[in-house]
Amino acid sequence: MNIGAHLSVAKGFTAMGETALSIGANTFQFFSRNPRGAKSAAIEEKDVDGLIKIMNKNNFAPILAHASYTVNVCSDKKHIRDFAKMIFKEDLEKLEKLPCKLYVFHPGNHMGQGEKIGINYIINALNDVLKPEHSIMFLLETMAGKGTEIGKTFEELKTIIEGVKLKEKVGVCLDTCHVYSAGYDIVNNLDKVLDEFNNIIGLNKLKAIHLNDSLTEFASHKDRHACIGKGNIGLEAIKKIVTHPKLKELPFFLETPADLKGYAEEIKLLTGL
Ligand code: FE
Ligand code: FE
Ligand code: ZN
Repeated sequence: MNIGAHLSVAKGFTAMGETALSIGANTFQFFSRNPRGAKSAAIEEKDVDGLIKIMNKNNFAPILAHASYTVNVCSDKKHIRDFAKMIFKEDLEKLEKLPCKLYVFHPGNHMGQGEKIGINYIINALNDVLKPEHSIMFLLETMAGKGTEIGKTFEELKTIIEGVKLKEKVGVCLDTCHVYSAGYDIVNNLDKVLDEFNNIIGLNKLKAIHLNDSLTEFASHKDRHACIGKGNIGLEAIKKIVTHPKLKELPFFLETPADLKGYAEEIKLLTGL
C-alpha cells in the first residue's frame, strides 16, 4: 500500500523523508509554501539530494505538493486571481527542482459569480500557467461544496479539464471526506461512485487520494476531517476504499487531525487491513 501523511516542510526535504519513514509511510504530502502565504524558503540542493536518496532506497510512491489554501484562482477580484497565477508559476519553478511531479490545488471559490464564470477563470489560469516543457501535473481536488466552492461535482472537474489545452498535465485528487460531504455515497455505493467518476472524468485521471474520515454527515457540504475510523465514513468503508482493485495502487495521503504518533497509528491500522 502507498500511504503517507501531510507533513510540515519546516525542517526541509530530507527531514520530511526521514519523518515519513519513521511513521511507516512510503510517501508524503507537503505545502509548496507556508500555508499563510509567506515567502517560500530557498531550496538547498543538498537537502533535496538527501530526500532523493531516501526515496530511491525505500521505494517511495510519488510525493504530492499541496498549493496554499489562500490561493483562489477564480476569485471575483482580479488582483486575487493574478496573485494565484503568480503563486502557481512560482510553485512550478520550485517543484521542477524537487522529486515531485504532482501538485494539488483547490479549484477555488467563485464568490457568487456562479460556477460558469468561476470555471472559466480556472481554465484560463491553467492555460496561462501550464507549458509543454513542464513535468508537473496539476491535480484538481474534489471539494465538499461549502460556500461557493467549485469542484463539488465530477461534472465541474470534467468541464475544467476539457477546457485546458495541455490536458495531459491535469488530473484529479479525490478527497474521501470531501466527496462524501459533497453527496457521493462512498460508504454504501463505492462502485457506483467510481463508475460515475470513470464515465464523467475517466479513472485514468485519478492520480492521488486524500484519505480522511468525515466529522460531518453525508451530503453535509461541510469540510471537517476526522481521524480514520472516527467519523461518519467509518473503518469498514475505508477498508473497501484502500483495498479496491481500481484504487489500491494509488498513493493515499492522510490529512486527518492527528499528530505524528497518530499518523503512525493510522498507517499501521490501514496497512494491516
Ligand atoms: Fe486540499
Ligand atoms: Fe484534501
Ligand atoms: Zn478538507
